[in-house]
Amino acid sequence: MKNSIVLVAYAMCASVCLSAAGQSPAPFLLRDMGSGAWAAIDNSTVKPNLAGSNAGFVIGPQAVLVVDTFESPAAAQKMLGAIRAKTNLPVRYVVDTHYHLDHVAGNQVFAKSGAIIMAQENVRPWMRTENLKFFGEKITPKQRDWVKDFYLPDVTYAQGATAYIGIDRGEVLRFMAGHTGGDTIIYDAQANVVFCGDLFWNHALPNLIDASTKEWVESLNVLLHDYPSAKFVPGHGDEIGNASDVRAFRDYLVFLRQAVSRAQADGASGVDVLRVVLPQVSERYGKWAFFDFAGPDIQQTDEELRHLKKLPRQPLK
Ligand SMILES: [Zn+2]
Repeated sequence: MKNSIVLVAYAMCASVCLSAAGQSPAPFLLRDMGSGAWAAIDNSTVKPNLAGSNAGFVIGPQAVLVVDTFESPAAAQKMLGAIRAKTNLPVRYVVDTHYHLDHVAGNQVFAKSGAIIMAQENVRPWMRTENLKFFGEKITPKQRDWVKDFYLPDVTYAQGATAYIGIDRGEVLRFMAGHTGGDTIIYDAQANVVFCGDLFWNHALPNLIDASTKEWVESLNVLLHDYPSAKFVPGHGDEIGNASDVRAFRDYLVFLRQAVSRAQADGASGVDVLRVVLPQVSERYGKWAFFDFAGPDIQQTDEELRHLKKLPRQPLK
């Protein structure tokens, strides 16, 4: 999830703008990751911004796997078109990296074309419920219906799965906590690329609305340990990252936790934490994208460290 305020506009546009999508420039830019793997980077200069997040796909010897489906069916349809321009192999799987609507709203496009939608097991119960909160109290019936119609994952898993797109080509799906409590990374060994979803924002401040920064830092350390030489496709941000970019992002979360913790130890609470920590974040990360998240990031980390943060409820087993 990138920005809830902008998102409302996107969401309204997603249905209204469908008819214009045929003439509009590409909502994403393809980046060749090698060995049939492609990143689809949100082309946010195009208005309306139909993609809303980064996505991607991997073309194997026998089938195609898609990672995320953008914020609108129109952008998903464009990605299906981009895949069809390269191969006639079936799109066998879609993996939703997490439940946020800017990553899943195009699921139906691929489901209709015959793909199986896969996700970590928390994504399915959250997709039509937790996404409503991004519209706030003024949610319209149309927006509510839009969320209620999201195409849910067909196959879920607790810890992960391997999705084969060829006899010897298995895409590794791994659950990693942090951004939402239901995040998946996808690793393609042949291209040595990790599709990170929103577990990695490249030189951008992240949305922490559903985050556990403690678990998130641990997950990023696992990524860095297990895939030290990989290319990392971020959920948001224009550039593909390497390990040093992932480390820089992890260090932002560590810095945030330490700065908030120090302010709390000095007796600050609520707006005082924000007043103390914001200049520190600004000094170090003022040039990063989505700096508007600095305030909410500080506030949400303050709540997390006080154990007051409300997170999406884990489904009962
Ligand atoms: Zn997200």
